[in-house]
Amino acid sequence: MTLVFRNATVLTMDDAHTVHHGGDVLVDGERIAAVGPHLEVPEGTTEIDASGGIVMPGMIDTHRHMWQTAMRGYGADWTLTQYFVWYYLQWGKTFRPQDIYAGNLLSGLEALDAGVTTTVDWSHGLQTVDHAEAAVAALTEVPGRFVLAYGNIQQGPWEWSAAPEFRDFVSRHFSPANDMLGFQMAFDVTGDPAFPEQAAFEVARDLGVPVTTHAGVWGATNDDGIRLMHEHGFMTPSTIYVHAATLTRDSYHRIAATGGTASVSTESEQSAGQGYPPTWQLREHGIPVSLSMDTSVWWSGDLFSAMRTTLGADRSREHLEAHARQETVTHCHLRAEDVVDWATRGGAKALGLDSVVGSLEPGKKADFVILNLDVPNAVPTYDVYSQIVYALKASEVETTVVGGKTLLKDGKLLTVAEAQAMAKAKEYAKKVAASLKQ
Ligand SMILES: [Zn+2]
Repeated sequence: MTLVFRNATVLTMDDAHTVHHGGDVLVDGERIAAVGPHLEVPEGTTEIDASGGIVMPGMIDTHRHMWQTAMRGYGADWTLTQYFVWYYLQWGKTFRPQDIYAGNLLSGLEALDAGVTTTVDWSHGLQTVDHAEAAVAALTEVPGRFVLAYGNIQQGPWEWSAAPEFRDFVSRHFSPANDMLGFQMAFDVTGDPAFPEQAAFEVARDLGVPVTTHAGVWGATNDDGIRLMHEHGFMTPSTIYVHAATLTRDSYHRIAATGGTASVSTESEQSAGQGYPPTWQLREHGIPVSLSMDTSVWWSGDLFSAMRTTLGADRSREHLEAHARQETVTHCHLRAEDVVDWATRGGAKALGLDSVVGSLEPGKKADFVILNLDVPNAVPTYDVYSQIVYALKASEVETTVVGGKTLLKDGKLLTVAEAQAMAKAKEYAKKVAASLKQ
């Protein structure tokens, strides 16, 4: 089946960042067949008028604790310390498989609704394989593209990764051929000189899967963890360093030299206290960036917000650093176009999916969104990147297409029971509210 989306402003996010004004996107099955103006299409192609809109690659969130979504906004005024107490020491243990499922289902739908077509579920509440089964059940029920980053904060990674049922779970659910559901291992490196995490890194190496790790988090992880990973040979191009905020130049050099990428959650770093959002340092060291939302216990899964906040934080730091030298910044280094790249292509590169998604080019999977520019907050248009970063909101995502399937149309989800997912999250919220009163 072929579909053509006609007459939009098409941001390809290809290597040259080609933009087609009055451009078309032709989709054949699950892939993009052609991109450009006035495309000739096969007979019988369904024509969709996208005039007045922006077509851009679906956004990619490389670090989101989806299981926490049923606690949306509960920790709005928390610091990271309060978050750790709640999830790691107290309430995290009470999450049942069905609670993980409720959070993941809601979060998956929220992603599609906000134009996020690929999400890494940084799932560190998997206390048992039953919890992991529940996480996967939700991720496969929502027809977006997901990566399960398996973790368990209630045990050391050397413990849970050694369990035969963990290996069995991985072999049952994941294969490199399935690009709708990827797999990573998610754990942090504390800096203990004995480096107990080594065994978990060896499991990841043995399974051939990437490791994602909260690195450079003030009070939790630091340069020691990076140094231990490096000295033992576990820093690879597929390693994702989440936050990477409170680190010295030595660690940034080690990350750059081994080809890893950073997942920056600017809203999280600013509010929770991991450290100053590090893009100004990452740029200096040539470390590739992707963006992430972290957790809905504070923030929503809205990468428009991530792009805007990241640009602001980077510029804020650039100005302050210059002022300290009695200098004036006359031209901002980080551009709106750069953060759009980080939210799309940057995520694809970080996940090793650059040949699959992240840009609109023939042969890639058809993952894209259409944004409505015909709203008071987005007219007139001089620069399309500026519109995306500073004018548009998640509510202007009109259409979301994943693997050639239209999942959101006219702002309405087509394929899954939205009301049912919201009811499950509300049911969980009632349970929490009742428990907190005791
Ligand atoms: Zn996190």
